[in-house]
Amino acid sequence: MLNIVLFGPPGAGKGTQSERLKEKYDLAHISTGDVFRGLDPTSELAKLASSYSAKGNLVPDAITIQILEGEVSKHPNALGVIYDGFPRTTAQAEALDKFLASKGTEVTRMISLVVPEDELKTRLIARAEVSGRADDADPAIIQNRINTYQQSTAPVADFYKEQGKLIEIDGVGSIDEITARIFGAIDSIK
Ligand code: ADP
Repeated sequence: MLNIVLFGPPGAGKGTQSERLKEKYDLAHISTGDVFRGLDPTSELAKLASSYSAKGNLVPDAITIQILEGEVSKHPNALGVIYDGFPRTTAQAEALDKFLASKGTEVTRMISLVVPEDELKTRLIARAEVSGRADDADPAIIQNRINTYQQSTAPVADFYKEQGKLIEIDGVGSIDEITARIFGAIDSIK
């Protein structure tokens, strides 16, 4: 299986690049952000998740891990999975390792999109015009998402680096250029 953790700060381009990766390598794409946004908004789970996400905070690990495992189980015959927005904490990364080991597989590589903070803010403010997302609408919330990324999520790259699985990709350039860099990186591991 080709199990790719697509990693990077908010606004790095994970969703955009995931769509291309999915087509090219015939993978399932699991975005925990999309899963949370797709919950029935009247459900208790949706209300709980959005009480965190609307402020730019992480949804607690126990909930997120359970949701993720449920999503993976919806793709029993997948050739592989793109994990987009998960794991976002070291505890989630440990849980994913255990979960995949129980299925006789593992994370193949983490592909980390590297984008400077100023560029991220510009992209997120532009996205706010079209996304309708509560967490894009306010510069203070965007800043909180970036801070949360730096504090809680960035260490996840070290987790995979220690396993020799981290690939860093320059996430600045045209969408096509970045896609080509990612394809190049994946083709060189296969
Ligand atoms: P972004 O575009 O900021 O990368 P996502 O669409 O991936 O955001 O996620 C939106 C929000 O959903 C996050 O800010 C967070 O509140 C919640 N979320 C998504 N994935 C996770 C996760 N793995 N752990 C905790 N919270 C998550």
